[in-house]
Amino acid sequence: MPGTDLRDLQLQDMAALLVAEGEPAFRATQLCQWVYKHQATSLQQMSDVPEALRRRLQERLYISTLTLVRQQQSADGTEKFLFRLQDGNQIETVLIPADDKRTICVSTQVGCAIGCRFCLTAQGGLVRSLRPAEIVNQVLYFQAPAKTPTRAFTNIVFMGMGEPLDNLQGTVQALRILTADWGVGISPRRITVSTSGLVRRLEAFGRENLKVNLAVSLNATTDAVRTQIMPINKAYPITTLLAACRAFPLALRQRITFEYVLLRDLNDTLADAKRLVKLMHGLRCKINLLPLNEIPGVPYRRPSDETVQQFQQYLLQHGISAFVRQSRGRDISAACGQLQCEERVTKRLTEQPSQATMPPAHTADGGETSRPGATRREGGQ
Ligand code: SAH
Ligand code: SF4
Repeated sequence: MPGTDLRDLQLQDMAALLVAEGEPAFRATQLCQWVYKHQATSLQQMSDVPEALRRRLQERLYISTLTLVRQQQSADGTEKFLFRLQDGNQIETVLIPADDKRTICVSTQVGCAIGCRFCLTAQGGLVRSLRPAEIVNQVLYFQAPAKTPTRAFTNIVFMGMGEPLDNLQGTVQALRILTADWGVGISPRRITVSTSGLVRRLEAFGRENLKVNLAVSLNATTDAVRTQIMPINKAYPITTLLAACRAFPLALRQRITFEYVLLRDLNDTLADAKRLVKLMHGLRCKINLLPLNEIPGVPYRRPSDETVQQFQQYLLQHGISAFVRQSRGRDISAACGQLQCEERVTKRLTEQPSQATMPPAHTADGGETSRPGATRREGGQ
């Protein structure tokens, strides 16, 4: 597929491109309407754009979509979608229905470089980061085109494959497209980005002021244990991470969610619960407890339901909102930490995002390396 993917572009990039063609800038809004509201998949569908312009643009622009390879449904209603990208790599996206919510869990990378010991996605390392379009397309897949206000989903979590802040540029640009009026138009309050705690990137992400919710995977209460299960803790120990969380810009009633994967006899003791309460002091937070989804080859075990309950009770008794997250979709390997890429194509991406899509903030994040266990860094970085 030649040229630039329209779904990688921000409104201002499209406007600049059109002005360079001698066209008025308002046509960019027209293009966006087609790309996001009507979900056009070719320039030829844009009936109110002059034919000659459409032909000219078509030589340089295209609109990407994802190819569904497989769809699986869990007994609990959770659905998992395996998509093929243009270069043959594959990603997984999950749709999780609950009583009053339907949450889409999107991937931001093919694989992951962070190497958390309890996570299946970590096992093959990172193949590449996703382009903004590849993140946005996971959402659009569930969005009915045309004028109906109905959506097949209510919330989006960036908790699928990959570390969103290791793909800061792709994540930020996708979020801009997803939340803009000219784009998909989803309220940022309905979106949560989860990170393992890349502190420099977290600071840069805060400066983008996107107003989305933040989740941080804490997973331990001592540096010794956190480093053992999350090697990223060597670079950014708990106090450094929590200081960045305290400085993170939050709206009036917004709170940071801390995720805590419970591992039997390692981080699930009463002493851990006590330390956790102390660590959370002064933070506007809630805690999501995730009993480990066991993974073949991983030495950790899930605690008993009783231990999980006691841990939660201690937090609640000490004034911390704490929830136990049910492992949804475990029978189809769709639960947290169970996503993986079945096809990994390590060849270089044929379609790179255009330089025009890169806002300056992304070059100012200090070139942080997140790297224990990184295998490859390709794609839109
Ligand atoms: N990379 C990001 C987002 C994807 S992981 C991050 O780490 O935050 C989403 C969540 O799943 C994280 O909180 C992570 O700690 C959790 N997780 C990973 N493996 C898990 C497992 N085997 N069982 C339960 N939760 C797991
Ligand atoms: Fe990557 Fe998150 Fe899995 Fe850690 S838990 S390896 S950061 S996807």
